[in-house]
Amino acid sequence: MDNQHLWHSVINSLERKFSKTNLITWFQDVDIKQQKDNQVTIAVPNIFVKEWLHNKFEKDLLKTFQNFSPDIQNIKYVISKSSGHLDLRRSKNNKAQTLIDDISQPQIEFYQNRISGLNPKYTFQNFIVGQFNQLAHACALSILKKAGSINPLFVYSGVGLGKTHILEAIGNETINERKKKKVKYIPCPNFTSQIINAIRNQGIEKVVDVYSNFDVLIVDDIEFLAGKERTQEVFFRVFNNIKENDKQIILSSDRPPHSIENLEERLRSRFEGGMIADISFPDYEERLAILEEKIEERGGILPQEILEFIAKNIKKNIRELEGALTKALIIFEQERSFEKVKNALENIILEPRKKLSADKIIQTVCDFYNISQREILSKTRKKEVVLPRQTIMYLLREEINLSLPSIGVKIGNKDHTTVGYACEKIEDKIKKDGEFIKDIEVLKERIYST
Ligand code: ADP
Ligand code: MG
Repeated sequence: MDNQHLWHSVINSLERKFSKTNLITWFQDVDIKQQKDNQVTIAVPNIFVKEWLHNKFEKDLLKTFQNFSPDIQNIKYVISKSSGHLDLRRSKNNKAQTLIDDISQPQIEFYQNRISGLNPKYTFQNFIVGQFNQLAHACALSILKKAGSINPLFVYSGVGLGKTHILEAIGNETINERKKKKVKYIPCPNFTSQIINAIRNQGIEKVVDVYSNFDVLIVDDIEFLAGKERTQEVFFRVFNNIKENDKQIILSSDRPPHSIENLEERLRSRFEGGMIADISFPDYEERLAILEEKIEERGGILPQEILEFIAKNIKKNIRELEGALTKALIIFEQERSFEKVKNALENIILEPRKKLSADKIIQTVCDFYNISQREILSKTRKKEVVLPRQTIMYLLREEINLSLPSIGVKIGNKDHTTVGYACEKIEDKIKKDGEFIKDIEVLKERIYST
């Protein structure tokens, strides 16, 4: 892969792991100089950046390079004025704020097996099963018993509810049981960038060949296929080959197949042809069980009342549950006081509620249905616009209790009777249309996730 292209791929991957501010601060003036003898040389603007990359990012950076170019064994830094050519400079940044962001962000664990792409920390032993994820778990067991028994398995849920965990656990367990099985785990954006490379290098046939030969192929966050026509084409071929050979395909997404925009019909129907398992929210007891598992894993100690406090207050996202636990452990160790922990957590707990604004609802629905705010606010009665518009009105009333007239104003000066009618329409649809209920659930999850 040529330098520029390799660098683009690396940055793309990093973008999924680090905040935008972080990337801008540390990578905007960085560039690849050369790849030679298993070493990649990167040019950095000054010693400060060099130290940071070396001390804080090197492990992640190297792993990411290796994902695209497995021969690379180490990274060399040279200070040079040549500035990066990546368009990371969309917003002004502030180094002090970035440092704070960086420290307060949990360090991303980034261990991956180079061949399978699997992270061994995701296992069934540390995966709590409850009603909320029972179906996905049962499907996973069935696949472990007999690969190809459910094809594909399509798992979907909101963020932080265990999709990646269960997908990787299936992969890890498959390898544990039979070392010879060829398992591949890949996030969809990485798959897409491989396809783009392959198109440039006339290597598509090879990619199809390699991917068709896995015993278990796991593609995470498949919603990223939306609108990527060539990738969809290639994936379709891979999918058919694997399925014909009775090998296993496992996919995850943040939404059910019918809600993925710009997905070829033939792929959608393939995705719907196996088993679709959604993961919902854990209930109180399940959240407590998860916290107990996590605390045991970390070997920490917290009074039961603190665990209960966390379980009671964080409901929608297991990653946030873990974040709160980490914070509680640190503060409790220093202060030995439930009150102090409670105060510290109050910020995390209250924040998402405070942030919920009409704009967030409008933007979330627009993104989901892939239409612009301008169309929502316009007078058009096109079917593609009317449903999202009505959905927004409904959510504004249900989730932030806005009055009908003020909803009307927000939505492009519509009359309050129009708003009332819209809310009734949606309530009606929720009662009758099973698929739509799921869309509403997905939307609510997104509205409340930060
Ligand atoms: P998603 O892919 O749906 O965004 P992840 O799989 O990354 O979510 O899960 C987020 C975090 O929550 C991970 O650290 C994962 O280990 C943890 N987690 C999710 N589900 C469970 C579960 N059922 N039991 C234990 N930990 C879980
Ligand atoms: Mg995930």
